[in-house]
Amino acid sequence: NIEIQNVTKRYGSMTVLDGLSLSIKANEFMVFLGPSGCGKSTLLRMIAGLESVDEGTISINGERIDTLPPGQRDIAMVFQSYALYPHMTVADNMAFGLRNISVSADVISSRIAEAARMLEIGHLLERKPGQLSGGQRQRVAIGRAIVKEPKAFLFDEPLSNLDAALRVRTRVELAQLRNRVRSTMIFVTHDQIEAMTLADRIVVMNNRKIEQIGTPMEIYSRPASRFVATFVGSPT
Ligand code: ATP
Ligand code: MG
Repeated sequence: NIEIQNVTKRYGSMTVLDGLSLSIKANEFMVFLGPSGCGKSTLLRMIAGLESVDEGTISINGERIDTLPPGQRDIAMVFQSYALYPHMTVADNMAFGLRNISVSADVISSRIAEAARMLEIGHLLERKPGQLSGGQRQRVAIGRAIVKEPKAFLFDEPLSNLDAALRVRTRVELAQLRNRVRSTMIFVTHDQIEAMTLADRIVVMNNRKIEQIGTPMEIYSRPASRFVATFVGSPT
């Protein structure tokens, strides 16, 4: 499980996250939901190690990770922009992170083959990212995370660059993927529907704080504040 305790983040004199605490269970699909600018990406990037933590601690299975470099955290992040290496083939993009942590070539190819089958990108392995559609790039970005077999997956609005139809399809596929890849997943979005359909639990964030944590049903039927009710569209 992932424990976030009293985490505070400042940029200069501006506090963007103020003493946040939350606990994510093993294999849970947790969604961070909130309006633009509320600090969702910042929190995710602190878990990944791409931002420092000013106060508080983050641990996985009882071990502090906030002091570890990103490469030692055993976490895989999928970015909104996919962040693929343009000069490398799809297969090399997927293998890259594994070579860094010295996984054997045999294991690398079998993991790539398995992820490619799961994501139906086997026919794209020798292409470069520039020769792929947005949806295909997004699958490759997810594939690159899967082959790492991390303790946790972090997704930062991975569907926001897709058109409406593809977004719905990918959302359904993510839900299926989550049943096959038993792992902790944290998914950031400002889209209530995505949150409601994917989450085991939702963390509603606003204005530097957590407004409410609960299952989609709890959040929808018993919103803890007017903000939550309005944001998730609860009946009033
Ligand atoms: P969105 O839904 O638009 O992606 P978000 O919830 O992910 O929003 P963050 O990107 O975490 O929001 O940003 C939280 C706040 O921190 C914002 O007010 C933003 O302007 C500020 N911020 C983020 N990164 C930096 C930075 N490197 N320097 C200064 N301020 C920053
Ligand atoms: Mg963001």
